[in-house]
Amino acid sequence: MFKTKAPTEILHDLQVQLVNYPDLLVHKESENVIISGKLPVRGSIFEVKVVLDKNFPISFPKIYETAKRIPIKPWCHMYLDGSCCLCVEFEQRKYFPIGAPISDYFEKLVIPFLENRLHFEITGRYIKERKHNLAGIIDAYGEAFGTKDGGTIFQMLKVIAEGNLKGHHLCECGSGKRRRNCHGPVLWEVAIYVSKQQALRDLNKFIEAVKQL
Ligand SMILES: [Zn+2]
Repeated sequence: MFKTKAPTEILHDLQVQLVNYPDLLVHKESENVIISGKLPVRGSIFEVKVVLDKNFPISFPKIYETAKRIPIKPWCHMYLDGSCCLCVEFEQRKYFPIGAPISDYFEKLVIPFLENRLHFEITGRYIKERKHNLAGIIDAYGEAFGTKDGGTIFQMLKVIAEGNLKGHHLCECGSGKRRRNCHGPVLWEVAIYVSKQQALRDLNKFIEAVKQL
């Protein structure tokens, strides 16, 4: 799908996309491409390392904060492997679609994450915070679909997983209206960045959680 480029060309292209971040340098480390250096966020300097593995841009970048400023604790939105949890998985491609410039990854995900962290360092609380695990995923889907009803969220997710997005079906929310006159437009918007596979993975998390009740 992607034009094969020479490794030096890929590194050069990434460095050009980062023109607004002069202290971030792109280099190769075995099979991975690494972007590392200093990132200014509202007058504070964070040190970061972004890893693009050999499957990038199909795979999603991982980011580490390298000055040990952020404790590796779930309540700091850090994964146990030391990488930062920038958003729930299904939102990743909303902010950074395959093929987007790497600068988008920094602007739309990394900087907001670090701004949130900075706010926490100063005030002791986050500007915006998702709940952990499934509750956070449900909240995020609820926001995306414009509903708080768990059953509707489940049904809308099922529609994406099955790829059955036709507008004349009755809407999942139970309004009795056709999708196209109800939640269809939001459903279609979410389906642009949430793949069938992603929807299925998240549906299975719902199902597992219900089994454990
Ligand atoms: Zn509806």
